[in-house]
Amino acid sequence: MKTVDFHLCGCSDKRAFPDKRTAEKALGRAQAKRDRQAQSIRGRAPIGRENRVYECEFGMWHLTKQSRRSYDEYAAHYAA
Ligand SMILES: [Zn+2]
Repeated sequence: MKTVDFHLCGCSDKRAFPDKRTAEKALGRAQAKRDRQAQSIRGRAPIGRENRVYECEFGMWHLTKQSRRSYDEYAAHYAA
């Protein structure tokens, strides 16, 4: 049986998770899938992947695939 463990959040249309643990679990699944895809293409694991989880101003957790630079810009925008 499959459960839906994400929600919508007021900050965006992204999937939102109620806590960090749930978000990291989902991130782990996404990374494993991506690693398999990358290995099948390039024969090695990707370097410097930037997937991460973060807590938004609504207190929900999201996944991001943004690069570090764009993430920092995003975070700076968010803080402003
Ligand atoms: Zn949010």
